[in-house]
Amino acid sequence: MQRDGARARDLEARLAAVRKRIATAAEAAGRTAPELIVVTKYFPSSDVRILADLGVRDVGENRDQEAAAKAAELDDLALTWHFIGQLQTNKAKSVVRYAHSVHSVDRATLVAALGKAVAAEQERRAGAGLGARDDLECFLQFTLDAAATSGGRGGALPGEAGALAEGVAATAGLRLAGVMAVAPIGTPPAAAFERLLRIADSVRAVDPSATAVSAGMSGDLEEAVAAGATHLRIGSDVLGPRPAVG
Ligand SMILES: *Cc1c(COP(=O)(O)O)cnc(C)c1O
Repeated sequence: MQRDGARARDLEARLAAVRKRIATAAEAAGRTAPELIVVTKYFPSSDVRILADLGVRDVGENRDQEAAAKAAELDDLALTWHFIGQLQTNKAKSVVRYAHSVHSVDRATLVAALGKAVAAEQERRAGAGLGARDDLECFLQFTLDAAATSGGRGGALPGEAGALAEGVAATAGLRLAGVMAVAPIGTPPAAAFERLLRIADSVRAVDPSATAVSAGMSGDLEEAVAAGATHLRIGSDVLGPRPAVG
């Protein structure tokens, strides 16, 4: 009990500090504060429960096995799960059971797999007497490394934006939300996010409602807010340093 109370106070203070940074950055940029997605990967579901008590609704995970287990354990909570990690096509079926969105859609084969998986999930739900799920929100992930010559692992190339966006727009069960990126190491994040915002323009040319921009992590949230991010994915500054992967 004592230890849980200490963890709750720790998370409360860290969360408040992050929310304050977001509000300050939004005000400085003259923008609406983006949505905060708290990235809970590697941390136990007890932490997610504390965060839910503190008003967190959106959580991000990057590994299907871990995310599926947490979502099942916490299904009494009204949480929105965002899948933000590299996704193998054979995991699509599992991910659509709990995820509201996938931020890492980076290739046509994954678009097809997610479309098929949502269709199968709707059938499963109907068969089990459950209501239908919402369309899966898809963020197209791009690599912002100017030297990258091939996409597909951890982000498509900017030149692939139009075709990927059209692929999502044409797939039943998927909704094109917008774009996502991780700022590359060794480049100023502001310049990287400017590139992402230009890619976002070409995605919106395909679907004007695809206005979401998922950018900004613990180390670059201010730059992301300034550039016009609509969704921030913050892990360590809310939860503390990640435990070593076992
Ligand atoms: C882990 C992760 C984050 C959160 O990173 P922090 O630096 O801990 O805030 C955000 N986005 C992706 C894709 C991640 O894998």
